[in-house]
Amino acid sequence: MRACSTPMAASFTCKSFDRLKESVQIIQWAREMSDDIDKIEYLSPNPIYLSKSDVFYIAERISKQLSYPSTKNILSVVNKLGGYISYIDFWKSERHTGSLVVERNGKFRILVPKHTSMQRDRFTIAHELGHYFLHYMMKLTPAERSNVAFQADRYEGGRVEWEANWFAAAFLMPEKEFRTVYKKSGSNFFSIASHFHVSTRAAITRAKSLEIQ
Ligand SMILES: [Zn+2]
Repeated sequence: MRACSTPMAASFTCKSFDRLKESVQIIQWAREMSDDIDKIEYLSPNPIYLSKSDVFYIAERISKQLSYPSTKNILSVVNKLGGYISYIDFWKSERHTGSLVVERNGKFRILVPKHTSMQRDRFTIAHELGHYFLHYMMKLTPAERSNVAFQADRYEGGRVEWEANWFAAAFLMPEKEFRTVYKKSGSNFFSIASHFHVSTRAAITRAKSLEIQ
C-alpha cells in the first residue's frame, strides 16, 4: 500500500487519508446544510376563526375519510397523509421547539415526547393534525404552502390551541359514536375512554363540549 506524501498524515496510508478527507467533507456538508435549515423561515399558525361546531364537523368528516373511527389507528392516518412521527426527549433536546413541522414540499413531521402513554400521544397527534388541516391546509393558499415552511410550536397559546383541541376531540371521538358509547356505558368514563383509546380527561372534556355532562 502506497504511503501518503502529506506530512501531517505520515502514519496514514493513502486510502485511510482519503477516507479521512471524505468524512471531513461530509461534516462540512452537514454544517452547510444545517446553516441552510436555520435560514428557512417557518410560518406560525394563525387562528382560522371557525366556530367550535364547524371545527367539530370538519374534523369528523376528515376522520371518516381517513377511516380513523373504524381502525382507531392514528399512526396509519399520519402515514397515509405523508407524514411521520418523531419521538423526542424534549427535556434533553431544547433545539426542538416545534410540535408540527411542515416542509415546503408538504412532507410533515409530528414531534411527540418520549415516555408518554399511547392514549396521551394519540390526542397529541390528533391535535397536531388539527394544526395541519385547519392552520396549514385550510388557512394558507396553495401558493403560500409551496413557498413557506410551517411550524406549530409546543408553546403556542390562545385560540390556535383551542381550535386544534376541538379538532382532536371530534377526530378521535365522533359525536354519534360518543353518544352511543356514553349511554351504553351508563356514563362510565373509564369505559368510554378505553373504547376511544383516549385518557379519561379527554373523554370528560368531550362530553362537556357536547353538553351531555
Ligand atoms: Zn398546538
